[in-house]
Amino acid sequence: MVEVYKPQSLKEALELLEFNDCTVFAGGTDLMVKKKQWTGLEPCFDKPVVLISEIDELTEIKRDENYLYIGAACTFSQLIESSLIPEFYKCVFVEMASPSIRNMATIGGNICNSSPAGDCLPLLYALDANLLIQSSCRNFEVPIEDFIIGPGRNILKSGELVTKVKILNSNFNIIKYRKVGARKSTVLSKLSFIGLADMEDKRLHDIRLAFGAVAPTVVRNREIEAEILNMYSMGLVDVQEITGYYSILIRPIDDQRSTAKYRKSSCKRLLEDFIKSLL
Ligand SMILES: Cc1cc2nc3c(=O)[nH]c(=O)nc-3n(C[C@H](O)[C@H](O)[C@H](O)COP(=O)(O)OP(=O)(O)OC[C@H]3O[C@@H](n4cnc5c(N)ncnc54)[C@H](O)[C@@H]3O)c2cc1C
Repeated sequence: MVEVYKPQSLKEALELLEFNDCTVFAGGTDLMVKKKQWTGLEPCFDKPVVLISEIDELTEIKRDENYLYIGAACTFSQLIESSLIPEFYKCVFVEMASPSIRNMATIGGNICNSSPAGDCLPLLYALDANLLIQSSCRNFEVPIEDFIIGPGRNILKSGELVTKVKILNSNFNIIKYRKVGARKSTVLSKLSFIGLADMEDKRLHDIRLAFGAVAPTVVRNREIEAEILNMYSMGLVDVQEITGYYSILIRPIDDQRSTAKYRKSSCKRLLEDFIKSLL
């Protein structure tokens, strides 16, 4: 039998986590798989569990004139239904798992699981998302790329919770998202790609490119993006040079979902298509 706590507020949750070594449980869609035993047996939790999915402060979505704030325990279904969430985020969220999983799975869980194949991660990297982290004694903010430090690894310490995802309001008018999987739904990515661009009167103001599941963490590189902007401003876009830059960063592996070769060549094609679509 596992001990389960259901705190009613963020303060109560943080106090519980300060004094007890517990497992944070949001939607449970990763945890129930990780803790499963043999078929038919209950999952095995070796520590007490703290349920956070119904804490109001963690399930709010707010927008002010500068930022969008998404509570870490918002489910993907809630995000898809919210009028505060930009439509292009939803293109990513609707490709995640299946409706029943999206009803449980949270954005905070996807981030904290820190899998290279986490579907919302390339979008959050491309948007320069920051995470708000809280424990009973401190609050701090960290860019998502400094939070995730390897496959399944992040900087979160015992007693800390990711409380919100903070994203600067932005204006992208060209968006391409592609999740490549073995089938259309309930499948983990072989790879994913997101390209965002802000283009007006054939002038490129901003470009963001991110690749998922092709390296230990999401691949995004601001120097290359700046170089692409530079190429556009001079009218000297060299697609081969751009794909060459990314070829060094994209270091996929062979696994049960795909081969390194397929992943790498698909990334190259998706990148080429996106860059050419801007010409
Ligand atoms: C059938 C199936 C299909 C799936 N398909 C996909 C898919 O297509 N794409 C994809 O990306 N994922 C997929 N997943 C994985 C999973 O659904 C997601 O990663 C989901 O977002 C996890 O969220 P959760 O709330 O269920 O996390 P949980 O399982 O509750 O938690 C995951 C981890 O994060 C920690 N955690 C959760 N919230 C917080 C917080 N706020 N602060 C600190 N720590 C926290 C937990 O302690 C745990 O270690 C699938 C899973 C299943 C079972």
